[in-house]
Amino acid sequence: MPIYDYSCENCGRPFSHLWRSIAQAEAGGSPTCPNCGSVSTVRVVSQVTVLGEPGGLTPSEKAQENAQIAKQASYTSREQIEKLRSAKDSN
Ligand SMILES: [Zn+2]
Repeated sequence: MPIYDYSCENCGRPFSHLWRSIAQAEAGGSPTCPNCGSVSTVRVVSQVTVLGEPGGLTPSEKAQENAQIAKQASYTSREQIEKLRSAKDSN
């Protein structure tokens, strides 16, 4: 199952959301922030972890997924990503 990292635009808190499938993750829009309940959340692209997906993704599916992620990355600022990364490093 894919785990995507998100950042809340309301409270700024990063969190991870576990989706049942990649298709659902793509269709599901933004998950609710577990901290403040805001739906103003944006995907953080740096980490996508896929657990136990039988058969996994084909190379073309993987390329499609990466293209989608790259597209969505355009609305997370570099500054915000760097901030999240440094917050993770200090943990
Ligand atoms: Zn929040």
